[in-house]
Amino acid sequence: MSESIILQTEHLGILTPDGAALLSDVSLKVPKRQMVHLVGESGSGKSLTLKAVMGLVPSGFSVSGTMRLSGEPFAAGQVRGRRITMVFQDPGASFDPLYTVGFHIREVLVSVRGLSSDSARVETERLLEVVGLRPSDASLYPHEMSGGMKQRAAVALALAPEPELILLDEPTTALDPTVERRILSLIADLVEHVGVSVLLVTHDLSVVSRMGGLVAVMYGGMIMETGEVEEVLSAPEHPYTIALMEAAPFGGTVRPIPGDVLPPSLRTGCPFHNRCPEATDICHGTVPEVRRHAGGREVRCHLR
Ligand code: SF4
Repeated sequence: MSESIILQTEHLGILTPDGAALLSDVSLKVPKRQMVHLVGESGSGKSLTLKAVMGLVPSGFSVSGTMRLSGEPFAAGQVRGRRITMVFQDPGASFDPLYTVGFHIREVLVSVRGLSSDSARVETERLLEVVGLRPSDASLYPHEMSGGMKQRAAVALALAPEPELILLDEPTTALDPTVERRILSLIADLVEHVGVSVLLVTHDLSVVSRMGGLVAVMYGGMIMETGEVEEVLSAPEHPYTIALMEAAPFGGTVRPIPGDVLPPSLRTGCPFHNRCPEATDICHGTVPEVRRHAGGREVRCHLR
């Protein structure tokens, strides 16, 4: 195991109580000081992958596979809130409305990092400045902040335990484009200057393109293609990645992907087979293996 890999999932799977596979064979690596994007349509399993890492999968669902943090196996949720933290799509979800944002951050600093209350106050102000807020904003209640301020405060809270990895679940979807740009640039700064690793869920390929790093394209609970953002977006190899890019082009003609995502209970073989223009008989009944291509690209397709 390379020491430069912070998070590694191996063959991660999730079954519903009825036995339908929501995630299958999700093997993912997040290197140190890197940003990895998880992209795909709704229902592809992106957010569920983050929940599996955080141990937030609903009870009754069974989780299989292994997860490692800096090479050491861990159980789902075991490192939540200390070595791995999460920022949600709704920034309000990170805060109890009865307490100030400063209170939330100080509480983590005292309980997780063991700081004295005086040191926690100073560190809270420093963290707020890191995310572009004023030290005095510590005294604000969540409802006294705009959506963008609240999301910055949520990032400060996620940084408080000095985690090795931050998971971000569509953190800018609820924000207007100007605020979105500022939050994304803050996240890029954290990776570069603070040295934290980031696993970012998004459905927006323009975000992926702007931020760079690595990308994993998900469909039907599986990872279909992984590689460097620049390479995958300039020369996608998997039929689903190609279709996704044609459905959300950076300029040019939009070609929606025909058909619908198969529900988990009806999936057989390649989960994309009912929408794929290249599907052959084998695609209907046999799950394709992941193949490693030149340059480290990995593609799960019978024909690639
Ligand atoms: Fe299409 Fe078959 Fe490849 Fe799946 S395995 S993406 S259905 S060609």
